[in-house]
Amino acid sequence: MKLFDTHCHLALLYEDPINQIRVVDEAKRKGIVGLANIATNLMDFFTCYKNTKHLPNVFHTIGLSPSEVINPGRDWEAKLEEGLSYPKVVGVGEIGLDYYHKYGDRNAQVEFFIKQLEIASNRNLPVVIHNREAGEDTKNILKSKLSSAGGILHCFSENIQYAKDMINLGLYISFAGNLTYRNAKNLHDVARAIPIEHILIETDSPFLTPHTYRGKRNQPAYIIETAKFLAEIKNMDIEEMSEILLQNSLKAFNITLDEI
Ligand SMILES: [Zn+2]
Repeated sequence: MKLFDTHCHLALLYEDPINQIRVVDEAKRKGIVGLANIATNLMDFFTCYKNTKHLPNVFHTIGLSPSEVINPGRDWEAKLEEGLSYPKVVGVGEIGLDYYHKYGDRNAQVEFFIKQLEIASNRNLPVVIHNREAGEDTKNILKSKLSSAGGILHCFSENIQYAKDMINLGLYISFAGNLTYRNAKNLHDVARAIPIEHILIETDSPFLTPHTYRGKRNQPAYIIETAKFLAEIKNMDIEEMSEILLQNSLKAFNITLDEI
């Protein structure tokens, strides 16, 4: 079985290159053929990129999450553009809105989000979207500002209708480890209701550890638990489903895997 982790944070898992590389190797030994390392801020991106850029089938995105809105750093737009010109940097993210944490005021978050969506559009790159308790604003902004390359709504948390609306806009729906929680009935319903062709899976590691490993820090190798659970609730053969998910992942980021 070949799996792809569409959203992990190597920089948040470990600061040192040895462990960042180790955790990728561990995942590869478990059949995770590739992964997307998602940035939340510029400093983590540049350090982690340098540490891991040589690894085959490790792709990167660069973007500033809503947590950075108050202090994005000097010349952040120029630095973002610089990162986007690097090899294997395949999208802008994660970017979006987070009204749960109340970073800055809402207008500042919206402006910050739109600016980065415009940068993605200008380069025709996909975006990785973070939405926490900001579903309506996220949707309304994406209606006019989503890059023609589309993107991914990561760690899905809304209802079936919302998922359908986002698919119509050109986004993939990505489920994280919390899909495997028994009480996540809403997410199970969404996963059953939408076609597998529009679904991705992710770990969002080090967060949202799947049920089986709860208590441990999440890591890319644990994506297999989310795959197993999804196959079960969608009543699909896991091998067949994994192949579709892998193809979805490659399409979402417009990438091909290196031969290894
Ligand atoms: Zn994330």
